[in-house]
Amino acid sequence: MQSIPEIFGSMVFNDEIMRERLPKEVYKSLTKTIATGRTIDASVADVVANAMKDWAIEKGATHYTHWFQPLTGVTAEKHDSFISPVGNCKIVMEFSGKELIKGESDASSFPSGGLRATFEARGYTAWDPASYAFVKDGTLYIPTAFCSYTGEALDTKTPLLRSMDAISTEGLRILRLFGDTTTKRLTTTVGAEQEYFMIDKEMYNKRKDLIYTGRTLFGAPAPKGQELEDHYFGPLKSRISAFMADLDHSLWTLGINSKTKHNEAAPAQHELAPIYSTTNIAVDQNLLIMEYMKKTAEKHGLVCLLHEKPYAGVNGSGKHNNWSLNTDGGKNLLDAGKTPAENVKFLLMLAAILKAVDDYQDLMRISVAFAGNDHRLGANEAPPAIVSVFLGEELDSIIESIVNGDTYQGKKAGIMDLGIPSVPTFRKDTTDRNRTSPFAFTGNKFEFRMLGSSQNIAMPNIVLNTAVAESFRQFADILEAAEDFDAAVAKLIKDTFAEHRRIVFDGNGYSEEWEKEAQRRGLLNLKTSVDAYKCYNLPKNIELFKRHGVMSEIEVNSRKDILFENYAKIINIEALTMIEMVSRDIIPAVNAYVGEVASSLAAKVAVLPEACSDVERDIITRLSELNSAAYKKLAELKAAEADVTAESDYEKKSEMYCDTVIPIMNALRAIVDQMETLTSTEYWPLPSYGEMMFSI
Ligand code: ADP
Ligand code: MG
Repeated sequence: MQSIPEIFGSMVFNDEIMRERLPKEVYKSLTKTIATGRTIDASVADVVANAMKDWAIEKGATHYTHWFQPLTGVTAEKHDSFISPVGNCKIVMEFSGKELIKGESDASSFPSGGLRATFEARGYTAWDPASYAFVKDGTLYIPTAFCSYTGEALDTKTPLLRSMDAISTEGLRILRLFGDTTTKRLTTTVGAEQEYFMIDKEMYNKRKDLIYTGRTLFGAPAPKGQELEDHYFGPLKSRISAFMADLDHSLWTLGINSKTKHNEAAPAQHELAPIYSTTNIAVDQNLLIMEYMKKTAEKHGLVCLLHEKPYAGVNGSGKHNNWSLNTDGGKNLLDAGKTPAENVKFLLMLAAILKAVDDYQDLMRISVAFAGNDHRLGANEAPPAIVSVFLGEELDSIIESIVNGDTYQGKKAGIMDLGIPSVPTFRKDTTDRNRTSPFAFTGNKFEFRMLGSSQNIAMPNIVLNTAVAESFRQFADILEAAEDFDAAVAKLIKDTFAEHRRIVFDGNGYSEEWEKEAQRRGLLNLKTSVDAYKCYNLPKNIELFKRHGVMSEIEVNSRKDILFENYAKIINIEALTMIEMVSRDIIPAVNAYVGEVASSLAAKVAVLPEACSDVERDIITRLSELNSAAYKKLAELKAAEADVTAESDYEKKSEMYCDTVIPIMNALRAIVDQMETLTSTEYWPLPSYGEMMFSI
């Protein structure tokens, strides 16, 4: 058997393999392309393609695919084999540089939010040499960007790579001012902790709602939920443990540093965390992690639920996006540092991030807004829909003293020149763990905790990178023009903290008081996705993306359209699923049960007219009333659905779904859940919450 270090990354065409397999000159040229983000030379591409193909064939590949990330859905791929005919009855295995670099793709079936109509139906995929190719399921996967022929990005990868360039460019301006002449590139790193639920496959197959929508649309609470807190970090059940081992093995072959696994708060909920990597790679890897969770679960007779809220009443699933900024020399700029100069730089970084989050609260919120995540954010579950930053006690008081201009009396802190207190080096365990904060400083990184479990993590990182790039740009403009640099930095830090301190909040993020306090501070509270999407193309946001070359106005508008369209389609599917389940499964089941109780009552009374019949009468009365109420709500839901169908604009449709349809669905659910508690298990057509959550 191969050892873990032997299998790790064995299916990845990584740097080591490239160095081993490519001629020296080609390897050099390729790594330069990767480092600088320039386009690759055609002759180099041919050599790389050939080496890649030979390597892939050794790993059992017969096909290759350009792997990309369209604007909805997770990933897309189309497989072509390497075969190429020679004469009439022979073939050879071929793969050219052209095929590696660029793929034609009919863009017309992917969402483009009007981009397609305005421009061209066809798009193309372009190799992203900064993400490694890999082999899985007999296919060579080539990570690519997906664009229209007129150059508009039709994917999430392209703006992500652009945002990484933006933060590097603007960040370097700052570093130069501090006398750094050697750093050539800044990269953001990301570690995404992934939460998920597991359910037995047979149970899953009996729930149309899980099959069609990924979440339960009905279900009375089980007698036991997560109140005993016995699941969090509890021992792994053997079936889950076998699944996790299998999953780790697959991920390791793909070079994914799957590191931590544990049970989460809710019954049947778990988490996987990899070791962080460069953002674009972390995005690809998170997509692969989600894909392998689903695939591996199937092999074990299980289904992995990545939806944000599979079950009402217990915790939903999110993703924590741990983010930091590093130099190519390996220095983390969010490390407080030991010297006074490093401290100033750190405080400036902190100021830039606070400003970015405050100025672009709306974009942060939008980047995590979609129908599934609305069940978490702002819905009595941490984190709230209001964006704020947690820094911890020590940093708070440092900021306080900077703003007030008085001396900081910290534990280990001294005083530096410029009237700025020095910042002690933080270890993660010295920063408080505030679990309700949407965006928390945890020692040497920020943890963006609003992400939904099912989402592609590209957009939150696009927003973070670009917004921080904008802070850097403004800072650099000021500092480059300053005559006295030290004084200018001190003033800039102080002014920025004073102006953006309102975004800092260390208390309980989902208390009612915070909602009021946030309103008083003038912070945004975009409760639903629909509220959030409306802010997407505000002039300040378009300006931000345009200025840094991350997205054009057209690209922003197309994304806004797609978000509305997607939201409307999801709620539509949920409403239709509800209608089908209530009409065809639930009402008939209740009728059958009431029928049985009624006939047994009739039989009983026929034998013994004086017999007590309270139970039967009560069940019949209550269930008949509820069933009739359900039937009325069903009619209401159908009518509301018809109204939305008649509307063609997706933004209006989304508003109607959010304001009218969802409340009706909630009311219908409440009635059905009540009926579940009164109906015999034998008659109830769906597995219960208890069965689904405690059966593994
Ligand atoms: P938890 O928050 O659950 O206690 P950790 O804080 O140990 O877990 O780590 C969570 C994630 O943060 C891991 O994926 C880890 O690799 C990642 N991480 C640690 N340091 C950094 C960093 N500098 N940049 C980005 N991610 C990081
Ligand atoms: Mg965490």
